[in-house]
Amino acid sequence: MNEDAPNQISHKDTTISSLITGFRCIRQYYFGKTKKRDNSGRYTICKLISSAEQDIFDEEELWKKALLIDPDIDPGTRSHIHEYVSVIKHTPLRPWTDLDLIIRSERTGISGLLDKFDARTGEATLVRCTKAPVNGCWAEDRIRAVALILCIEETFKIRLKSVSVEYIPSGIIRYYEPGQRDRRVMLQVLRKVHEVDKGIFPEKPPNPPCEKCIYSDKCNMERPKTLLQIFKKSK
Ligand code: SF4
Repeated sequence: MNEDAPNQISHKDTTISSLITGFRCIRQYYFGKTKKRDNSGRYTICKLISSAEQDIFDEEELWKKALLIDPDIDPGTRSHIHEYVSVIKHTPLRPWTDLDLIIRSERTGISGLLDKFDARTGEATLVRCTKAPVNGCWAEDRIRAVALILCIEETFKIRLKSVSVEYIPSGIIRYYEPGQRDRRVMLQVLRKVHEVDKGIFPEKPPNPPCEKCIYSDKCNMERPKTLLQIFKKSK
C-alpha cells in the first residue's frame, strides 16, 4: 500500500474527469457541474480485467467480483467480459502493486484516481475502456496523461516521463510521453474550468461535439448576450 497518496479527493480540487469534460466541451462542463457521475459497467469490467491476478481470466470469477464492486451493474455488461478477455489474453498487461490511488498536484489543484501503480518501478498505468486509435493515444488521453504525471510526481515525489495506457477493448498498450503542447492545452483547459467555477458562462468552443450532446437544448437556449441585449444596453 502506498502511504504517500492522500485518502480522499478535496471538493475544492479540479478532478481529472472534470478536466476531460472541459476539454471535450467547456459548456458540457458548465451544464454538468452539479450532475453526479456514475461509472459505467463496462469501465468496472475493464478495470477488473486489467488487474486480474497473475493474468488469470476466469470469466465467472470476474463477473462475481463485478457484482461485489457494483451490485447495480447492468447484467447486459456481462457479455463484455468474454469479448474483452478474448482480445486481451495475449497482451502483457502492466504490473501493479497499488490500485485506485488518489493523487494530487498542489501546484495546479488537480486531483484524481490512478488506476494502477507499480511502486517497485514507478510505472503508472491508465486503464481505458475505449478502442485504441490507429497510432498513439486519443487527444483526451493525452490530457489525462499530463494531469496524471503532474499529480503522481507531486504525490510520490518522483520524476515520471510517461504513462502506460491500456486500451482493454483492443488488447493494446501504448506508452505515452506528453510533450509541451499537451501541457499547454491542459493548462488552458484548467483555466477555462476555473472560470466556469467562478460562475462565468463559457463561449462555445470551436468544433464542439454537439451530435448526441445531452445538453443541446439548454445550450441553444442559453444565450446570455444576444445581439438585441447588447444593442439595448448600449442605447
Ligand atoms: S451542444 Fe455542443 S456546444 Fe453545447 S454543450 Fe453540447 S457539445 Fe457543447
